Amino acid sequence: MSFAYADAEPLLALDDLHVSYGNIAAVKGLTLRVMPGEIVTLIGSNGAGKSTTLRTISGLQRPRRGTITFQGKRIDGLPTHEIVRLGIAQAPEGRRIFPRMSVRENLELGAFLRQDQDGLAADQDYVLTLFPRLNERLEQKAGTMSGGEQQMLAVARALMARPTLLLLDEPSMGLAPVLVELIFDTISRIREQGTTVLLVEQNALAALGVADRAYVLESGHLKLEGRAASLASDPEIAKAYLGG
Ligand code: ATP
Repeated sequence: MSFAYADAEPLLALDDLHVSYGNIAAVKGLTLRVMPGEIVTLIGSNGAGKSTTLRTISGLQRPRRGTITFQGKRIDGLPTHEIVRLGIAQAPEGRRIFPRMSVRENLELGAFLRQDQDGLAADQDYVLTLFPRLNERLEQKAGTMSGGEQQMLAVARALMARPTLLLLDEPSMGLAPVLVELIFDTISRIREQGTTVLLVEQNALAALGVADRAYVLESGHLKLEGRAASLASDPEIAKAYLGG
C-alpha cells in the first residue's frame, strides 16, 4: 500500500532499515515516510521495535543496514547532537528528565543545542502555554513532580529545541485517562504550530485518533500502513491492537 505523495519531498525517510542488538534483530527492513506537517504514528505490541526505530533516528543506535534521510540529507551515522542541530528532537520514553534540576533548568537544557538562541523566552512562553501545569512549578525540582507532570516536561523540553520533527516515545505511558486526553490534544496543537510529529504508542486507539497516517510494526517487520482513520475502523487491526 502506498500513498499519493510520489511528487512530494518527505521530511523523513527510512529505507530498508535494519537494527540489531548483538545477534538480536529488532528492526527488520522498515521503510517509512513522514511528510512535512504530518502526524505519523508507529504502533505495535511490546518488543515490536518501535522505540528502537526512534532511537536509531536520533542517532542513539546505529542501523545495521538501510538509510535514514532528513530533509534530503543522510543522517544515519551522525552523532545525536548533530541530528538535534539539524532539527530533530526526541522526548524519550520513561520520563527521562533531570530529577535534581528545576523545571526551568530542564527547559533551558532543551534549548542548549539550538543554533539560534533568539526567541528563547517566547518559546518558553509557548511551551508553558501548552502545559500550564509546568508554569506553576517552574522552580520545583523535576524529580518531585508527578509522573504525568514529568511526562509533560519531557515533551516540553524537546519542544524547546524548536524541532522541525518531534519524536515522541509513548507520551501517554502510565497516565490517567484525563491526562492521556490532554497529551493527545497537545500533540494536535503542536502540529498546528507547524511541527511535524512521529509518535510511537502502545495506546493505538488514541494514537490513531490524532495521527494522519500509521505504520503497524510486528516483531520488527512492517505489518501494515495506511490512513489512521481507515486503520482505526479495520476489524483486523481492532482485534490485534485495539482490544476490539
Ligand atoms: P515496547 O512497546 O515494549 O517499548 P518496542 O516496540 O518499543 O516495545 P523495542 O524497545 O524497540 O520495542 O525492542 C525491540 C526488540 O529489541 C525487543 O525484542 C527488545 O528486547 C530488543 N531490545 C531493545 N533494546 C535492547 C538492548 N539494549 N539490548 C538488547 N535487546 C534490546
